[in-house]
Amino acid sequence: AAQEGFDPEEIEGALGEAGHGPLPVLAVVGRPNVGKSTLVNRIIGRREAVVQDKPGVTRDRVSYEAEWAGRRFKVVDTGGWEQDVLGLDASVAAQAEYAIETADAVVFVVDSTVGATDTDEAVVKLLRRAGKPVVLCANKVDGQSGEADAAALWSLGLGEPHPVSSLHGRGTGDMLDAVLEALPDAPAQKFGTALGGPRRIALIGRPNVGKSSLLNKVAGEDRVVVNELAGTTRDPVDELINLGGVTWKFIDTAGIRRRVHLQEGADYYASLRTAAAVEKAEVAVVLIDSSESISVQDQRIITMAVEAGRAIVVAFNKWDTLDEERRYYLEREIETELAQIAWAPRVNVSAVTGRHMEKLVPAIETALEGWETRVPTGRLNAFLGEIVASNPHPIRGGKQPRILFGTQAGTKPPRFVLFASGFLEHGYRRFVERRLREEFGFEGTPIHISVRVRE
Ligand code: GDP
Ligand code: GDP
Repeated sequence: AAQEGFDPEEIEGALGEAGHGPLPVLAVVGRPNVGKSTLVNRIIGRREAVVQDKPGVTRDRVSYEAEWAGRRFKVVDTGGWEQDVLGLDASVAAQAEYAIETADAVVFVVDSTVGATDTDEAVVKLLRRAGKPVVLCANKVDGQSGEADAAALWSLGLGEPHPVSSLHGRGTGDMLDAVLEALPDAPAQKFGTALGGPRRIALIGRPNVGKSSLLNKVAGEDRVVVNELAGTTRDPVDELINLGGVTWKFIDTAGIRRRVHLQEGADYYASLRTAAAVEKAEVAVVLIDSSESISVQDQRIITMAVEAGRAIVVAFNKWDTLDEERRYYLEREIETELAQIAWAPRVNVSAVTGRHMEKLVPAIETALEGWETRVPTGRLNAFLGEIVASNPHPIRGGKQPRILFGTQAGTKPPRFVLFASGFLEHGYRRFVERRLREEFGFEGTPIHISVRVRE
């Protein structure tokens, strides 16, 4: 009955909007100082400079949402990678590797005032081998006189160089048009589908929480190397591991096993890898070192997984080291520091003793189940009707906004669209989310709720 007065087309439209799948991913790659960060800022329309003063500074985020000509996509900024951390060639190779693994298309930025260097040529080789669409950005063409420098970059063999001034915006529109042509409408099913291949797990957490120990523990002798990226690394990237009678794909285990302890920039390197692994995974197992206080870095990693819309399990590792006192404080910290994922299943494990390893798989399965839950429209609206009757929205300015109708627009993670007669306050949305979780579960998954106001 709540549906009355709704135009089916309007609902369709709203569904299309909220029900978009994962966005296609664009990676911006190139040597240091060619202008990658400047270009990323330009693409995402951000004014403030994030161009780094200090090399290797940790950034909270490496991926941003952008929109051009009505199409949305994600831009991944690899500009924080500094040559003095890994060495110039290794750093650009690492970027390229990252781009190859995760992006749907690549913008390769060259400084046209410098021309193509040996390092640029090396990157071109990597990109070619990956077979992803590449748009060549001839940057720092600030005026007409730079056009000839740009044209010289035809020699890279990547097709038309797009003359751009990231600094002033010149030519960026044309280049973005080319980017849109290169980007698929939806990200390729490059990681297999839920029905097809094994479920994909990313094991994430800050350095030293025990990722590599846990991986070794669960993998035992059973692991199979499934993928090797020729030329970029000789380490396995993803591994198939049998757990509880089921084969799972662990994403980017190379990043876990590769025990490089870089000094400056290590955090950035780790966070880029984490973002890449999360992007490819369906479920993120976030490892926390229970012997230490939950840190801002732990929270950043969790936020990454939440924002990517992944199913989440929290594993408190090193449980063998806990005494009564620490356990007491940990409980308090969980309440205050992990409130944003109070819905995530928790397991208390020890990678050293093997404690509660058998609880990991059920927790992962629970989270994936929540992630894929679909509530039939009839049930959802019966439930929304009850909410509206028992807990109406507070009256504002003499009016009382009401939820009229709702529908689940998608899963993985669950996305809802609520149609309302007026603006629903943040607190009320939170309340609706809480009640949705109480009613339908959604354990281990973020849920998105968008509200369409019917004027
Ligand atoms: P990244 O290391 O590749 O991310 O490069 P940055 O974005 O940090 O830019 C390096 C330097 O080049 C900065 O001083 C920028 O202001 C400058 N730069 C970036 N794009 C342009 C451009 O289009 N024209 C000019 N003249 N300078 C630019
Ligand atoms: P990563 O950097 O997250 O891969 O962490 P590692 O697996 O390298 O572990 C870091 C350190 O913590 C190593 O010294 C491990 O032996 C230790 N460690 C890992 N898991 C546990 C655990 O469950 N209990 C204890 N006591 N130590 C652990």
